[in-house]
Amino acid sequence: MKREYLLTPGPTPVPEEAYLAMSRPIIHHRTSQYRKIFEEVTTSLKDVFKTKNDILTFTSSGTGAMEACVANLLSPGEKAIVVKGGKFGERWEEICQAYNIGTTCIDVKWGEPVNPNLIGEELAEAGGGIGAVFTTLCETSTGVVNDIESIGRIVKRYEAVFVVDAISGLGADNLETDNWAVDVVVAASQKGLMTPPGLAFVSVSPKAWERVERSKFPRYYFDFRKAREGLEKFDSPFTPAVTLMIGLGETLKLINGEGIDNVLARTRRIARGVREAVKALGLELFAPAAPANAVTAVKVPEGIDGQALVKLMKDKYGVTIAGGQAQLKGKIIRVAHMGHITDSDLLAGISALEKALDEFGYKVRTGAGVEAAKEIFTSGN
Ligand SMILES: *Cc1c(COP(=O)(O)O)cnc(C)c1O
Repeated sequence: MKREYLLTPGPTPVPEEAYLAMSRPIIHHRTSQYRKIFEEVTTSLKDVFKTKNDILTFTSSGTGAMEACVANLLSPGEKAIVVKGGKFGERWEEICQAYNIGTTCIDVKWGEPVNPNLIGEELAEAGGGIGAVFTTLCETSTGVVNDIESIGRIVKRYEAVFVVDAISGLGADNLETDNWAVDVVVAASQKGLMTPPGLAFVSVSPKAWERVERSKFPRYYFDFRKAREGLEKFDSPFTPAVTLMIGLGETLKLINGEGIDNVLARTRRIARGVREAVKALGLELFAPAAPANAVTAVKVPEGIDGQALVKLMKDKYGVTIAGGQAQLKGKIIRVAHMGHITDSDLLAGISALEKALDEFGYKVRTGAGVEAAKEIFTSGN
């Protein structure tokens, strides 16, 4: 018998409350019963996003909402700035390319955060003509958190809208949508929001709505205007993922019951515990300058194949962690600590990591990682 631990940056574990609610008989969406759930979810999401802006819900994975941002916020012939410091920054560029949007990419070394001033320089140099700045809160592929607050202070002086992919960061790394002048935030159900994959969310500021009205790209299913019309009566334009919305209603109750700032503080503490644990094992963080609280990326020691390490952790110890993507394949491992992942799950994960490393011939003092993590987990902050 084996207990499974899911420590990946999406999908993340789902709380029992959500599973139980999702197991009840399906309901129809054109009913007051569903509208009430839709309204509660939308209102609760605003607390998590820290915004008064509209929040639109789509049935898709997070990338669908990213594409919807490009299609709704820009028009043919317009240009965008993309911060590219990992796989998800690259995704913004790829989507822009698919829509023939010319991009100015800020190439950030993987494992480092973007210098906000570089965005300011590009905006100033372009002298208008940039429609949007696409960035990432937590760059999940490298474990970096970007300084969204400073970028917001810069972008708000320009006509460009500021778009943040917070798909992995929301609910783990602080994001103050309104205070930091973020026009558009993209999120999805399967990370810090602790719900199975299938829902995506977009918050839209008044400045962004002006662009949506003017956009000349064809849109239908992902038309922000249609989604906003639906919101007026909490009636989705198409059949919503009713079951997932019911599950999300439950996880949002958990988040707002604890309070978003308490959730963030707890996540910050367990993230720090994991970083101290891997350091105690003599391992090196991949993103030491600006480590995210959502996920920790760790360099795999010389001579060990990271993919084999991930496989052993899963097959022998039932602990699922993530490996590296693209150029980091086999070179790093990634451990998530967002949402429903608890300190005891992480102690089990760290203990399995110690054992797996040992099996690959990497010398560790058994328990050193667990001890270091435990000290932070129990320190109160
Ligand atoms: C997971 C993730 C995505 C991709 O979302 P999908 O739901 O797989 O489409 C995009 N950006 C970031 C930062 C992510 O962590």
